[in-house]
Amino acid sequence: MNGVLSCSAMNCVNNISAICSARTIHVSGSNAHSSEGTQCENFAEKGLKNSLINVLNMNVVGEFKQAFNGDSIEMSPMIRCEAIYCKHNEKKLCLAGNIIMYGKDALSIEKTECETFEE
Ligand code: SF4
Ligand code: SF4
Repeated sequence: MNGVLSCSAMNCVNNISAICSARTIHVSGSNAHSSEGTQCENFAEKGLKNSLINVLNMNVVGEFKQAFNGDSIEMSPMIRCEAIYCKHNEKKLCLAGNIIMYGKDALSIEKTECETFEE
């Protein structure tokens, strides 16, 4: 089970103050040898349509805990990850303690990447 995740993709529907509210995310990058080859497949631009589509993947328990703990990250998604060359990848699950997803100004999945990738 992975640790906490922070994310700079502020335009993503799942992003609440740089914390991800999705229950599970999928990181792609089966041939990646660096961060650039990875991306968060759950990125979806903020808006009503995507809010409705993503509602079933909301981390309701995490959001509840987060509401009472503003100083720490209490809400993090489970990460399924295809980047098998990353040293944090174990059987396509992420075991990193701290994950940083990058997506500053991103408006599409392609503009996101996992900064924590290490070969
Ligand atoms: S880009 Fe991915 S990690 Fe970041 S908030 Fe969106 S779904 Fe979560
Ligand atoms: S740290 Fe590695 S295993 Fe975890 S999500 Fe990023 S690329 Fe995947």
